Amino acid sequence: MNRLLKLLLAAVPAVLLVFWMLPANAGRTAEAKGEPSQPLPAHIAEAPPETDWKAQAPSYWTEHLSSEVVQVCRDGGTERPWSGDHNNTKAEGVFHCSSCGAALFLSDAKFDSGTGWPSFTRPVDNSAVDLHTDTSLGMVRTEVTCATCGAHLGHVFDDGPRPTGKRYCINSICLLHLGS
Ligand SMILES: [Zn+2]
Repeated sequence: MNRLLKLLLAAVPAVLLVFWMLPANAGRTAEAKGEPSQPLPAHIAEAPPETDWKAQAPSYWTEHLSSEVVQVCRDGGTERPWSGDHNNTKAEGVFHCSSCGAALFLSDAKFDSGTGWPSFTRPVDNSAVDLHTDTSLGMVRTEVTCATCGAHLGHVFDDGPRPTGKRYCINSICLLHLGS
């Protein structure tokens, strides 16, 4: 028993020393620290600041975006629920438009809606998105598009949590998480 006690007494300071020597943020992922979790696509990084994104021809988007992004974000489709990278992420920072790089939503406004799509209570700024009445599929919904490039993002509903009561239901594939 005494030998076990001695072993424990020797082991505890050693373990504490190892933890003390670890950097304070060891074990935290880049996402948890709010650092960029996705690279900025080249077509956004290399675009001149004065780029008129809404004037880009359909051929520009098919050249620079994947067919999956084009189908949802340029052609108004909907990704399968629970299929997107950003549905469950708790990453801190800013979610940007995957077409043009404009800042759209903050992680602070993200909540788990249980729908299978990333959901937010508000955009980063009301001017970041445009809202349109959408009567497709026999329903009256409010479509959300990127105010900078016109990308289809998703829809907004009035069944969200406080404080806004809004649920911005956004296709994950239309978002880039670039950190804070
Ligand atoms: Zn955009």
